[in-house]
Amino acid sequence: FVTGKRKATEVAHAVWRSIVRKGDTVVDATCGNGNDTLALLKMVADERGQGRVYGIDIQDSAIESTSSFLKMAVDDEHQRELVKLFAICHSRMEDIVPKDAPVRLVAFNLGYLPGGDKTLITVPRTTELALEAASRILSSGGLISILVYIGHEGGRDELEVVESFASSLPIDTWASCKLQMVNRPVAPILILLNKK
Ligand code: SAM
Repeated sequence: FVTGKRKATEVAHAVWRSIVRKGDTVVDATCGNGNDTLALLKMVADERGQGRVYGIDIQDSAIESTSSFLKMAVDDEHQRELVKLFAICHSRMEDIVPKDAPVRLVAFNLGYLPGGDKTLITVPRTTELALEAASRILSSGGLISILVYIGHEGGRDELEVVESFASSLPIDTWASCKLQMVNRPVAPILILLNKK
């Protein structure tokens, strides 16, 4: 998965592709400008109109940005309709994902909206609540993927919360791991939580 030329998001997408199948239900917990949402849509959309991406962002502007990015990148309107967008805090994901939908992946790309207001960032308390919610809705065999940026103020506090959550998961039902470039100390860190 990892080579020096790959961006952290590409590494995350490569990991997702090894888990996500056509027809799956997945959650993008931080839509931002929609790059991850699009990557997920391509992974789940099948010819029978199955597959769902529930996209969440706390900022209306991010939801609008994701929506227009998808309009530009995906010609097929039926395929675009597989994405359901919600301007809410990701700690409330259980309110919008149907109870009977087995969720294969919940993806977090933490920090601020690129090109947006850099003071509106994900924060440890709601990230922790969202991770708890994600762990409840995830189906067996599914994955929680968290990309944590440590270069901005507050990034390391958030990493601490994510790592503490990851290490508290029971070993009989979860495998938690961390992917970090050891020769680039401020590179984003990918935390992967696999539910057995
Ligand atoms: N995945 C995005 C993409 O592909 O463009 C980038 C995401 S960006 C690094 C982080 C996003 O998290 C921002 O758009 C921000 O508005 C959002 N965010 C911050 N706090 C949030 C919260 N409590 N619930 C949901 N989204 C939140």
